[in-house]
Amino acid sequence: MSRESPPDPQECARLAVGVRAGDRRTLAKAITLAESTRDDHQALARAVMADLLPATGHALRMGITGAPGVGKSTLIEALGLHLVAAGHRVAVLAVDPSSAVSGGSVLGDKTRMEQLARHPQAFIRPSPASGALGGVAAHTREAILFVEAAGFDIVIVETVGVGQSETDVANLTDVFVLMQLPNAGDDLQAIKRGIVELADVFVYNKRDLDPAAADRAMAQMAGALYLLRPAAATWKPPVLGVSALTGEGVPEFWRDVLRCRDTLAASSELAAKRRRQALAWTWHLIDHGLRERFHADRAVRDALPLVLEQVGAGTLTPTAAAARLLEQTRGR
Ligand code: GDP
Repeated sequence: MSRESPPDPQECARLAVGVRAGDRRTLAKAITLAESTRDDHQALARAVMADLLPATGHALRMGITGAPGVGKSTLIEALGLHLVAAGHRVAVLAVDPSSAVSGGSVLGDKTRMEQLARHPQAFIRPSPASGALGGVAAHTREAILFVEAAGFDIVIVETVGVGQSETDVANLTDVFVLMQLPNAGDDLQAIKRGIVELADVFVYNKRDLDPAAADRAMAQMAGALYLLRPAAATWKPPVLGVSALTGEGVPEFWRDVLRCRDTLAASSELAAKRRRQALAWTWHLIDHGLRERFHADRAVRDALPLVLEQVGAGTLTPTAAAARLLEQTRGR
């Protein structure tokens, strides 16, 4: 573990003041520091965040997931433009799990949300899935807090429906939206992967293409939901049909998101959810830190190849192997 000198208080104060004032460049810089793998950057980001923490927590945090092409960016653009016109400040954080897996990007390879991106009351930022702190949404949590401190009152976290990212985003947000197309295969996939149980609002998009198919899919999903345990005790997830392209159903969709947030807040489920999320994140970081320390340990690194070989050959049990390796880090 390298010991860094403490962050420069003046630099820290300058960044905190800039973020609080809503200065976009300072905001972007603060998020970049939090995403950095350098210890000194991380320390500075933590110090700035400590200063800003009282200014966080007031925004509505909405998560949205769905397969590529389902219409997420079209919906977010339509909704975002409507919200900024109504005087809101909207931040969109895009979590892209594909960038960690392939080095490419599903979310970043095309121009998305062009009009919203240019709007002075909007802030759009992809969150790289670096995995530096573990999990695809590793830095999105910090980014949410920074944009809140900068005065954005609506935060939309978007992710492609791949692997762990949906669970991560559901664990960062107040209201989680699952967006699908009227296609039974999609529904089954979502049910199988347990995503349906995370969702607070279900949206079937592109209703304009085939309204009858959309209505059928909605009825099926509503039926399936009957059998599942709801995510919240006081909230029954609605199933909506929209067309992000024409705007049909978008105001109703937003009304349901607000209704969900307000219902959870009124029953104190929202406060409990945020508390649970913060504690889960703390444990996640501790687990990740311990794992990193384990792998960085010299004695472990020396012993590891032989121990793993013995487990593979069947001459050492996994229990004995784990005990032997963990023993190496004892007392350090
Ligand atoms: P994303 O990958 O989930 O962000 O999907 P996009 O928002 O990029 O949409 C993928 C394609 O579907 C684009 O060509 C959109 O214009 C189109 N699309 C999005 N929403 C609708 C809709 O409601 N109706 C129709 N007909 N097309 C849509």
